[in-house]
Amino acid sequence: MLHKNRLFTPGPTPLLPAAQTAMASFTAHHRTADFRALFQRVLADMKEFIGTKNDVLVLACSGTGVMEASVSNLTSPGDTVLVLTAGKFGERWTGLAKAFGCQADILEVPYGQTFSLDDVRARLNSQVRAVFVQATESSTGARHDIEGIAKIVREHGDETLLVVDAITGLGTTHLDVDGWGVDVVIGGSQKALMMPPGLAYCAVSERAWKHMDTTTSPRYYFDLRKERKSAAKGETAYTPATSLFAALGAALEFIRGMGNGDLAKGREELVNNAELCAEMTRAGAKALGLKLYASAPAAALTAICAPEGLDSGKIVKEFRESFDAVVANGQGEMKGKLFRIAHIGYYDYLDTIGILGALEHVLAKVTDKGVEYGAAVRAAQEVYARTQSGKRQLVGA
Ligand SMILES: *Cc1c(COP(=O)(O)O)cnc(C)c1O
Repeated sequence: MLHKNRLFTPGPTPLLPAAQTAMASFTAHHRTADFRALFQRVLADMKEFIGTKNDVLVLACSGTGVMEASVSNLTSPGDTVLVLTAGKFGERWTGLAKAFGCQADILEVPYGQTFSLDDVRARLNSQVRAVFVQATESSTGARHDIEGIAKIVREHGDETLLVVDAITGLGTTHLDVDGWGVDVVIGGSQKALMMPPGLAYCAVSERAWKHMDTTTSPRYYFDLRKERKSAAKGETAYTPATSLFAALGAALEFIRGMGNGDLAKGREELVNNAELCAEMTRAGAKALGLKLYASAPAAALTAICAPEGLDSGKIVKEFRESFDAVVANGQGEMKGKLFRIAHIGYYDYLDTIGILGALEHVLAKVTDKGVEYGAAVRAAQEVYARTQSGKRQLVGA
């Protein structure tokens, strides 16, 4: 059979065709009126996409670059910070905090789980300058309670900042950044924005900007104050990834279209889409007798445990060989134990049904137990049918 190469990974994600053509045809120099106009429009639209009034910066790097920037700009060597970790991306916060000489207090829960709010509250004290957490932990498929954590941090006072890696959370999860008082929220282009890797972005609160006046960790390329000053003039401090800005402009237009001309509404639709695809996927996996890895599953991706005694790498390989579908294995210690199907960004009903149908064939091939064809697909269809009565359908570009 003919195979179309398709990505089901939690980044990079399927590309929006309009974003690809926008970047292919973009040639403007960055110190021109044309680019300035695009840049300013994109920054204003990014506020709508994130759902914030805070300043938004878009930098040329992968998501980890802005994670690093939030550590280097908001802390000084010796500062105590609280890291909430439940997976590989949480561990990245620990590594970054240590690299910049912070005293990292670590609240760690086992992979697949999420934090008890009482434990978070108990770990906060007057020494803690910042709390670092993920909105969705892409290595385990877990969703963390950012609203609950933000409430605790805000009750604690203005001296403690909350920094949220929402790189797979933005565009898949409802986040009230300003209402909850999140100081820095971070995203990346290769996730819900349906673009290639290469841009990462953040929204920064006034409280966080004030902290930056006194912090002393070394920074140069990732000096957020310098970028903020340039952005106010419609420019970036250094050469921006111009073609990726063109792609971002097209992606934001697409999301605006999903909201019938209202970008904030389009973002809500994009989130609802991910939530529904995730719910369908969970129902499909359960109908095949598979267990989910995360106790509180995210909408960004579904991490599914391999059947007892089977290496999940065999499932990942079979998806690739039979269907050219790229699903993700577990990372680090989770390798071989689980596989991950993402539903981020440009991903729809047919993608969801397709991967579940393929999953039935893959399991039939790699396990010796029989598979009831149609069980996963039917469970997903039932979820979809329940939610659609009387609702307008989302239509892709
Ligand atoms: C993708 C991702 C990142 C960023 O990784 P990069 O490879 O640096 O783009 C960070 N955190 C989470 C939760 C992610 O899913």
